[in-house]
Amino acid sequence: MKFKQLKIIFAIFSFSVNLFAQSSGDFLGIKLRPEVQTIVKEIERKTGEEIYSEFIQQKDYMLGSSLISEDGIPVVLIDYSLEDDPKKLEAVIVHELLHLRLRVNNYPTFVFSPSVRTAKGPAIEVEQSNVNDLKNLIEHRVFKGEMERFALYRHVNLAGDAAKGAKKQKGKEGGQTEVINYVRAILEYHKASDIEELRKIYEANNWKNSIKTGEEIAALISQSNPQTPQAVETVFLKCILKLYPPPSPKYTFKLTLDPENKFWRRMIINTATQPILRKNK
Ligand SMILES: [Zn+2]
Repeated sequence: MKFKQLKIIFAIFSFSVNLFAQSSGDFLGIKLRPEVQTIVKEIERKTGEEIYSEFIQQKDYMLGSSLISEDGIPVVLIDYSLEDDPKKLEAVIVHELLHLRLRVNNYPTFVFSPSVRTAKGPAIEVEQSNVNDLKNLIEHRVFKGEMERFALYRHVNLAGDAAKGAKKQKGKEGGQTEVINYVRAILEYHKASDIEELRKIYEANNWKNSIKTGEEIAALISQSNPQTPQAVETVFLKCILKLYPPPSPKYTFKLTLDPENKFWRRMIINTATQPILRKNK
């Protein structure tokens, strides 16, 4: 869906591609610091394309997003609300560049196989956004050190959004989205009191399982500190086994490389049966 949307963007705004020449170190009007310019150069060298960047309305509470297009072009999209907030704008640009740097260094994205089904329909339709979020939370762990070194996290505080949403959901059952929101709160909220506020709302909603699973996944991610694509895949698998617990230990998930996807590494999530462990005599 994103890609279709992107094609439209290209059609309408293609004239603006060169508005922000990366070579001068300007990025959406921000002068990037030299360490960050190095990241831009690495992304452009490895994709062989200039980064396309633009202010555009982002959905929900998102401040920015990034991707590599179907044509292999690295793209950074930033919400309009940041246009006049240079500190926050810089933080979100750098953040998205750090995601893109992982993309060009073979860190994978994950997509459900069309054959994986849920009670509510194909997983790729109803659960894909949750695994996209999970992938992002793991990637934030990968580049946490850099974001801290650049002292950029203090300009972005996500607290409050999930609490507002959860209050509206009272009476409904907690699902995977609620788990992911709780993981995000534990890993990314600045103040313990904000996590505590969300925990209380979850308890009032009777979402104890979402709290427990969220805590387990947050622990898996924060302890993992993955620094290779393979390490990311390992922690991702551990996390989805918590997020979507199989009906019995006989079942598990497996990841296979999507051979169709040429411009970055994408793994297909499938279900599998565990190999039977035989004891050596
Ligand atoms: Zn991110």
